Amino acid sequence: MDEVLFYCEEVFFNKYIYPEDFCLEQGSIGRQILSLSIIEIFGGYGIYLITSGIAYILFFDKELCKHPLFLKNQVKTEIKTCILLLPIVSLMQVPLFLLQINGFSKLYTKHDLAAADFLLEAVQLAFFTDFMAYWIHRLTHCKLLYKKLHKIHHMSKIPTPFASLLFHPVDGFLQSAPFHLYGFLFPLNKDVFLVMLIFGSCFAVFLHEGNYRMPKWFRRVFNGPHQHTAHHLYYNYNYGQYFTFWDRIGGTYRDFGDDMVTCASKKD
Ligand SMILES: [Zn+2]
Ligand SMILES: [Zn+2]
Repeated sequence: MDEVLFYCEEVFFNKYIYPEDFCLEQGSIGRQILSLSIIEIFGGYGIYLITSGIAYILFFDKELCKHPLFLKNQVKTEIKTCILLLPIVSLMQVPLFLLQINGFSKLYTKHDLAAADFLLEAVQLAFFTDFMAYWIHRLTHCKLLYKKLHKIHHMSKIPTPFASLLFHPVDGFLQSAPFHLYGFLFPLNKDVFLVMLIFGSCFAVFLHEGNYRMPKWFRRVFNGPHQHTAHHLYYNYNYGQYFTFWDRIGGTYRDFGDDMVTCASKKD
């Protein structure tokens, strides 16, 4: 994130945002907090709107909008709520990025990392976040936390890609915490960190994209729109992020079959 911050400062902020005699000097903690907040909020908006928009236009089955469980004005509500809540989650993550760019994490710079090492670090990070995200998600389904934190994510029973960031700020922060935690516990290349940050956002959109025509082998190994919509519909199954592994270990994996969405018609 330090290189993103430096690039934004040099190319954009110094020219168009901050006046020449701005009271916060480049490199000062105050300026880092302010710049990171701008990057986080507007970068978050950009990634959310572009990836969700593309997924909605290209992949989301618009026939699902006629489903009895599809809410009135659902897309509008999903977008409005995400736009409203995203800045809060973004600001909650700023201290973590601040610690990273000031050298308190185990992130390291090496732009010529071999492809195999790059892939290995990305897979290790994915397995770590997958494990943590599964248990955190499962925890947020306990009675006490569900109503206070996680219910908002289940507002849409048949979610669209625009529901990918539909989280109570604390829930959104908890879901992203494992990703940040990894960089404080284990050595991690900064390029891998950035690529996986964007990949994680895209995968969240993929989980909500409403295209259920995934091959059966894929559904057995990876989480996808099919399993995640089943989670929105039936709550106690398919909590996982990338893989079905922890759902299988935890006894919560279930494939509801190809007719899952058409069969689900009762409002709860
Ligand atoms: Zn859930
Ligand atoms: Zn969801």
